[in-house]
Amino acid sequence: MILKGKTALVTGSTSGIGLAMAKAMAAQGANVMMNGFGDAESAIAEVKAYGVQVDYHGADMSKPDEIAQMITATEKRFSSIDVLVNNAGIQHVANVEDFPVERWDAVIAINLSSAFHATRLALPGMKQRNWGRIINIASVHGLVASMQKAAYVAAKHGIIGLTKVVALETANTGVTCNAICPGWVLTPLVQKQVDARAEREKISNDAAKHALVSEKQPSGEFVKPEQLAALAIFLCGADASEVRGAAWNMDGGWTAQ
Ligand code: NAD
Repeated sequence: MILKGKTALVTGSTSGIGLAMAKAMAAQGANVMMNGFGDAESAIAEVKAYGVQVDYHGADMSKPDEIAQMITATEKRFSSIDVLVNNAGIQHVANVEDFPVERWDAVIAINLSSAFHATRLALPGMKQRNWGRIINIASVHGLVASMQKAAYVAAKHGIIGLTKVVALETANTGVTCNAICPGWVLTPLVQKQVDARAEREKISNDAAKHALVSEKQPSGEFVKPEQLAALAIFLCGADASEVRGAAWNMDGGWTAQ
């Protein structure tokens, strides 16, 4: 129970990786502020099952004023934000010349700028208490590129840069900032890409999953949200106090190639 009495704010925690992060934080005793769209009710119930206090804020992470309201509401409800997991994200796939400008702006706002806003607002309290963990869910696409993902790759490279700057600016404090860089994880965000591939190539969903993973990940296996959450818990612990500014990949060998 390394987070007993602490508070974790996990953005985009109604499904996928964010939900696994919220559950892992709760399992370590943290109270959790959840956020995201979709089926919030059942996600909240899953986290509450760990016997901690759970609340939900519906901030749209593309809107800086709503992010500010969420930070204030979390500090008011739980009196601190000790762990901030910047996880909310979206994807859009198109060649650069066809990339809708509105989709570019949305991906940059949700996958990159939201982390800047949440961090700049949560950091003063963390510095004051001289303890904090900021964990940015980047991607292998923060380290390498793929075609048709201009906005996503730009945002994820950007969030790794942000991670390093925040790590330097907090280096003499008890606050650390790191990024986790997952390879393929089978979440709703990726299921959409599997469905599109099955449709395009007239193959089964299982065949599309296999094709998608094996073309990038030598292991041929998806990374599990729970494995990423276990890494986040390590980053929260005392043994990780000198892990600062890392971009830690868990990607079945994707970026080793
Ligand atoms: P997901 O679609 O299951 O979860 C995304 C979450 O973000 C959901 O809770 C969703 O409601 C929320 N969200 C989306 N737009 C939002 C907005 N405007 N305001 C608030 N919440 C919003 O996807 P996931 O795969 O779990 O993705 C989580 C993070 O992990 C993302 O940053 C993604 O880029 C990253 N990631 C995913 C993979 C993968 O293979 N699934 C790989 C690398 C990185």
